[in-house]
Amino acid sequence: MKRWLRNLLALVGAFACAATAHAEPETLIRGARVFDGTGAPARIRDVLVRGDRIVAVGRHIRVRDAEVVDANGLTLLPGLHDLHVHTPRVAFEGAEALADTHRPYLASGVTSINEYSVSGPMLAPIRAIVASGQADAPHMVLAIRLGVPHGHGTESEFTNSITTQVTTPAEARAAMKELLSSRPDVIKVFADGWRYARDADRPDMDLPTLKAIVDAAHARNIRVVTHTVTLAGAKRAARAGVDALVHGVGDARVDRELIGLMKKHRTAYVPTLVVYEPKQDRTLLAAEWSRLRPRDLERETERKAEPNAPIPEYESRRWQIMQDNVRLLRAGGIRIGVGTDTGIGGVYPGLAAQREIRLLTTLGFTPREALVAATSTSARIMGARDHGRIGRGQRADLVLVAGRPDEQIEDLYQVRRTWVSGRAVSFD
Ligand SMILES: [Zn+2]
Repeated sequence: MKRWLRNLLALVGAFACAATAHAEPETLIRGARVFDGTGAPARIRDVLVRGDRIVAVGRHIRVRDAEVVDANGLTLLPGLHDLHVHTPRVAFEGAEALADTHRPYLASGVTSINEYSVSGPMLAPIRAIVASGQADAPHMVLAIRLGVPHGHGTESEFTNSITTQVTTPAEARAAMKELLSSRPDVIKVFADGWRYARDADRPDMDLPTLKAIVDAAHARNIRVVTHTVTLAGAKRAARAGVDALVHGVGDARVDRELIGLMKKHRTAYVPTLVVYEPKQDRTLLAAEWSRLRPRDLERETERKAEPNAPIPEYESRRWQIMQDNVRLLRAGGIRIGVGTDTGIGGVYPGLAAQREIRLLTTLGFTPREALVAATSTSARIMGARDHGRIGRGQRADLVLVAGRPDEQIEDLYQVRRTWVSGRAVSFD
């Protein structure tokens, strides 16, 4: 090819690129109180979004072609990240089913979820639905699951089929080699078999096997989280190098040894308080009632009509211990993230994350600290640096809320708009 022609083509290409860049939709969110997810106080700012990114945060940003959202008097937050979710399989049948199931997350400002009821072969079809762009839904961090034969996570025919079961480090290494080919975003290990003194215990995974899984995952820069509910199990998980316990320790109060181990191994704690909060005498806020889906509303209405059932002793004891452990671990300097176990009975998508955040504020967190836990801390626990904050270059996962949730946490229920990767999503 002649040089002048090549130069001309390069020039045309460059113009085309520039044109494409400008063709990306821009949104200017103007004059919001911006709580940026770092814990700093909210400040009045404009936030400019181009494509899927935040490209500027400042005062008096000028634009020509952007959609302008007047956010005067509202608070803009990074989207919330729920680190523990189980979605029913029906949601993965297509874009419509996915949007339908996940709409409540968006209505609650949840823009990322860690999905644990999936397996390797399910990941590519789910990603294809997401890639089609047909479904408004939060980002999904997709897991593969490992456990031990007859362990927790193998109870039903379905869970037994999606949980790869290993009992030795050699088996763990062989399984991981195969499982990693489905490119999971995270590994969930059912490491702990304690059934709360309610049912017979199931077997635990031993330390060498758990460590073999962690080492294989970390070699590929993939995070590992565990179903851990006991003090002994938490120590084992920390020693194995697990990144986060995605349940609370409920059999005993945490001790110095555990805090030391978690610090040494940088283990994070995701207590999932909402799933352990006794439902028998639980009071839902008016804001929660108003957002329950019809079948959940029916269930909660029925429960309310009955006299409060007695709370079994094991359950009230566990609830007290779990609350104490959040206080103790927070005081010990352990990172605490937000997860819910949504999908389990009485734990509802989106609403549960808001409730978990609110529960943290009853355990010594300020509203600001609780919001940090649900945004930048939860993102960091997953090793993600591109979301969880409002700043230049961050993925534009944003929530616009009436009032001041960073000062009064109940305002978090007043979600007005949600953006996922810069796209305003519908949730009505
Ligand atoms: Zn779970």
